[in-house]
Amino acid sequence: METPVTDPNASENAQSAGSDHGLGNLSLSSKTVHADDFLNKGQDVAPPLHVSTTFRYNRDPEKLTTWSQHDPKAPYEGHIYSRHTAPNTTRFEAILSEILKGPAVTYASGLSAFHALLIFLNPKRISIGEGYHGCHGVIEIHQKLTGIKKLALDCAEEELQSGDIVHVETPLNPIGTAYNLKAFAEKAHRRGAYLTVDATFGPPPLQDPFLWGADIVMHSGTKYIGGHSDMLCGILAVNPARAKDGWYEGLVKERLFVGNVMGSMEGWLGIRSVRTLEVRVERQADSATKLVRWLNAALHPENQAGADAPSPDEAKIIRNVLEQIEHASLQEADIQDGWLLKQMPNGFGPVFSITLKEEGFARRLPSKLDLFHHATSLGGVESLIEWRTMTDPYVDTRLLRISVGIEGWEDLKADLLQGFKVLADEDKFVK
Ligand SMILES: *Cc1c(COP(=O)(O)O)cnc(C)c1O
Repeated sequence: METPVTDPNASENAQSAGSDHGLGNLSLSSKTVHADDFLNKGQDVAPPLHVSTTFRYNRDPEKLTTWSQHDPKAPYEGHIYSRHTAPNTTRFEAILSEILKGPAVTYASGLSAFHALLIFLNPKRISIGEGYHGCHGVIEIHQKLTGIKKLALDCAEEELQSGDIVHVETPLNPIGTAYNLKAFAEKAHRRGAYLTVDATFGPPPLQDPFLWGADIVMHSGTKYIGGHSDMLCGILAVNPARAKDGWYEGLVKERLFVGNVMGSMEGWLGIRSVRTLEVRVERQADSATKLVRWLNAALHPENQAGADAPSPDEAKIIRNVLEQIEHASLQEADIQDGWLLKQMPNGFGPVFSITLKEEGFARRLPSKLDLFHHATSLGGVESLIEWRTMTDPYVDTRLLRISVGIEGWEDLKADLLQGFKVLADEDKFVK
């Protein structure tokens, strides 16, 4: 990896966003650790934190170029003002462009990225399912401004018209089930509509929506990309075929005027966080699937859970409390069909949901646990559990969303088991 020492005023060394810096065949972790090496200056191994909002112009009057002459394909050098570009965030975007496999633009939050998406494509109709309720709040604002209409996710193909959006969230918030992106891409494209994918619950290495035809991939980087519950971030990555149509430059240009940029501190934190994305997500996904298999085998003893099966005593404790469990790993029909393992070849998402037998159980379980924080959000190294009705007015009030962290999965299992046991014992006492 070369580490050029560059003149901060020179744009000759600038490289276009999402361009291949010779990292094509490297593993995901090699990319998250090295995709920004071409921006190294001086001797720092850890990238420095830059907080300036404004950047000196060239001292040589002959070399002055105006803002309108700024090459939007070269965002890494010659910064002007941080509402446009700034060193930490563009460096973070260089890594994201590489690992998401399309030029990436960052925003102040996941929802501000979704705003930017709707502003840029300005569709007349959006076909969308349930999913993250905040995105529906964003659509409501756009309804006020543009009259955009919502269509069901399974709407008839004929209802879609050119320029419309099919927006698929997969895996789905809050339950963790997965959708067939290829089928939605084909449906949208046959009508001249676009497929946009909220892939927050399935970050790299779990899925690559561009492989299946997504035009734009969105992430709430607050979740797995950030990974430590300490930064808000939104991301839009553009399919390289759409980038040829100027979508990347268009988004960057509009971000300048919408003003929804991520802060410099978050850009710096983002780099530090994304370095470990693969090891975190692999472990979280693996632990989540083991926990799901363990719980599900108590409800369905006929399923072969192998070494992860609960003992007969554990199964009884689980059955006293648990009604239902949902996760992509339990989509038997889709696994048999083949598409699910093709689209999620490296594991399912680290979030799943459980529905308990009574609302009171769901309200009380989080307080019985020691290793799961009772809090909203997901994707951090800490396991979280949320009585989902706290923030989502549309869900079953018996539903709990579980975001599996990096703790040992057997510790998490033991914690859930003792929580279930306490709940059932209290219940006996009350009755
Ligand atoms: C959290 C989340 C969002 C919103 O992201 P913010 O960073 O909180 O604005 C959007 N979509 C999904 C699936 C999410 O989980």
